[in-house]
Amino acid sequence: MSKEIILSGIRPTGRLHIGNYLGALKNFVKLQNEYECYFFIADFHSLNEPFDPKNKYQQIINLTKDYLAAGLDPKKCTIFAQSQVPEHSELAIILSNVVPVSFLFRMTQYKDKSADRAAENVNSGLLFYPVLMAADILMYHPTRIPVGKDQTQHVELARDVARFFNGKFGPTFIEPQPLYTDSPNIMSIIAPEKKMAKSLGDNHCIYLDDEPETIKQKLAKAVTDTGDGKSLGAKNLLDLVKIFSQPSTHKKFIADQAAGNLKYSELKQTLAQDIADYFAEFRKRKKQISQKDAEKILAAGSKKAQKVAEKTMSAVRTRIGIR
Ligand code: AMP
Repeated sequence: MSKEIILSGIRPTGRLHIGNYLGALKNFVKLQNEYECYFFIADFHSLNEPFDPKNKYQQIINLTKDYLAAGLDPKKCTIFAQSQVPEHSELAIILSNVVPVSFLFRMTQYKDKSADRAAENVNSGLLFYPVLMAADILMYHPTRIPVGKDQTQHVELARDVARFFNGKFGPTFIEPQPLYTDSPNIMSIIAPEKKMAKSLGDNHCIYLDDEPETIKQKLAKAVTDTGDGKSLGAKNLLDLVKIFSQPSTHKKFIADQAAGNLKYSELKQTLAQDIADYFAEFRKRKKQISQKDAEKILAAGSKKAQKVAEKTMSAVRTRIGIR
């Protein structure tokens, strides 16, 4: 029996933070052993926010190195760049014709980001994002999409698109389900009511390749409360302790919290050390991966992905009658 197919991607917009890792990448590494996996660099998706073209290619290679350093193995999964498989753009254009524009305007991420950018000229790439994402997904006929909770609505839209297309042109696409990790919602360490995101600023995030001293400094500024552990900030830190520290350490801090005498300086120092240790191997491996190796792996994976994409597109072109 052939394996179930899994697909997901991350945008190359800078360095990966622990939200990206816990919400997505950590799961990718596990899934590659059980499923036929496609993990891509969502470079086209990264263009709807301000960027410097001088950095973009390096961001793509850097993310490829992150994938590899975290443990993705090109022998077990296909690692590719969205822009190196032009069929994604073709499918997005075709699918845009079955997506009502009202569906796009009601996407939470569009509403939030366009409100944030209200002073600028909001580009249509931001509105179109979920259509391209539907194309990325449906191209490979995956059954499950490992993502953080923030992407649920977009995966649902991909399901709608599959259903609309199949209804109009005949059975072509599978309707995939999101697949969450145990920690799909990591919050900012200094604004814990917001999800951790690069766009908030470096001091909101802990990056996978932050040096131990940087992690310590950032966590020292994390917001907390007076010791009862009830605030969002305290909850976020305790959740991180649960993930990165020993169970006995977590148990101790939970007991302190129950007694109302949680010492945050102690918690923050312990957590900083444990996060630094957790990613020590990652930092070492990342430094060892050369630019050339990353480029080669990306090119080979993109070639492999393109073969699948070409097959899908051939069926799609026939379905819609343009060939
Ligand atoms: P992005 O940077 O938007 O391309 O996100 C890449 C992946 O990381 C997606 O699957 C997101 O759902 C996930 N992700 C991003 N931020 C967080 C967060 N704060 N907590 C959990 N998952 C996240």
